[in-house]
Amino acid sequence: MACTTNAFALSLSSTPNPNLPSDFNPKLTKPLTVSLRGSGTADLNLGRLALSRHTQLTRRICANATQVTMDQSVAAPTIVEVDLGNRSYPIYIGSGLLDQHQLLQKHVHGKKVLVVTNTTIAPLYLDKVVDALTRGNPNVSVENVILPDGEKYKNMETLMKVFDKAIESRLDRRCTFVALGGGVIGDMCGFAAAAFLRGVNFIQIPTTVMAQVDSSVGGKTGINHPLGKNLIGAFYQPQCVLVDTNTLDTLPDRELASGLAEVIKYGLIRDAEFFEWQEKNMEKLMARDPDALAYAIKRSCENKAEVVSLDEKESGLRATLNLGHTFGHAIETGFGYGGWLHGEAVAAGTVMAVDMSYRLGWIDSSIVKRVNDILLRAKLPTTPPETMTVEMFKSVMAVDKKVADGLLRLILLKGPLGNCVFTGEYDRKALDDTLAAFCKS
Ligand code: NAD
Repeated sequence: MACTTNAFALSLSSTPNPNLPSDFNPKLTKPLTVSLRGSGTADLNLGRLALSRHTQLTRRICANATQVTMDQSVAAPTIVEVDLGNRSYPIYIGSGLLDQHQLLQKHVHGKKVLVVTNTTIAPLYLDKVVDALTRGNPNVSVENVILPDGEKYKNMETLMKVFDKAIESRLDRRCTFVALGGGVIGDMCGFAAAAFLRGVNFIQIPTTVMAQVDSSVGGKTGINHPLGKNLIGAFYQPQCVLVDTNTLDTLPDRELASGLAEVIKYGLIRDAEFFEWQEKNMEKLMARDPDALAYAIKRSCENKAEVVSLDEKESGLRATLNLGHTFGHAIETGFGYGGWLHGEAVAAGTVMAVDMSYRLGWIDSSIVKRVNDILLRAKLPTTPPETMTVEMFKSVMAVDKKVADGLLRLILLKGPLGNCVFTGEYDRKALDDTLAAFCKS
């Protein structure tokens, strides 16, 4: 795997990128050395990350999953490690992990826990989580706050309910916040944990595919503003992420498909082999085949952990995880939060980013077709809502977090499958043509 960049363009590949000279190796200033497990280091500085084309990074860094045995009578969880020095943490993945109480309990700090969840998830899993936290552990007391369900409640008003409960319950700096739910709960609970008393312990128990493959990992937390998604937040890493795949049994089909949009993303931006696996196994994923889902979750977490370990605060590399998101966020904001699910908006946004990449001459038409085909098989939209206009896209995209000095930077595919760039250097006409092609006005 190669990873190269210049000030405004960052290219990642799982196969060599023919657009780059074989000796391409950008000059770095003031490098910050990030240690990788095993041999080798990555030199990272603000906005720039360079690794030799031939380093075979994926083989060396920490994110490879391992199996550990907790108790011989229960299945061992798969563990993917997020390597962030003294803020490293494990992602436990497996079926029935909420029954393995010690897994959760060893990451609880202090004697008070606040479980943050919502009205849909509480009746399904709150008792189970309280039991997992307290069984054989009588010194711990557990409070909960049950928030209204939905993206439209991912805002300051709802966040205040978490603080209200924490303060009323006299929680102190030694408490632990537990996010029990999908990405909305995880993002809000994480932000609350980052801000309450300037930071308390935090555990993620994701219960959607979206949260299990993406949002619970990497420490991005936050809330929406009426003018833009996720504009207020903090980078704040959890103590651990516990993925009990059994929780997916109750997840509606539409939510399952929404999460698969992010799974597909990993294949497109950096893991061509994984994308090919998805092309062979999409029907199994849609039918909730447990082995296929477990593999997709593990491989997605490995990809995310690897990127986050190298670029925790999104100096460049991490931005590539946002393929399709700039268009997608415009759909979510323009259409009204919750109108389209996050993954649905990302899916349509991915098709738009791929269309633009093709217009720029950066990918061939077979990739455009393969992206459309796989999204359709996942029952995801491949065009934005008809009510979206060019102006709506442009006004929301103008406040995107990836705008730098007035320049909108985008994640676009470039080269063979599995390669992308994060760049502000593209022909503006291609963007205009893509917007015109996907909007009626
Ligand atoms: P969500 O949190 O709204 O959950 C989707 C729906 O499923 C909700 O109604 C929820 O109550 C319900 N639900 C959750 N688990 C369930 C279960 N096991 N059984 C039955 N119902 C269940 O949506 P989501 O797709 O999980 O997350 C989307 C959010 O995640 C967006 O706000 C997005 O911005 C954010 N996100 C954040 C990151 C990040 O890095 N922090 C990454 C991707 C997405």
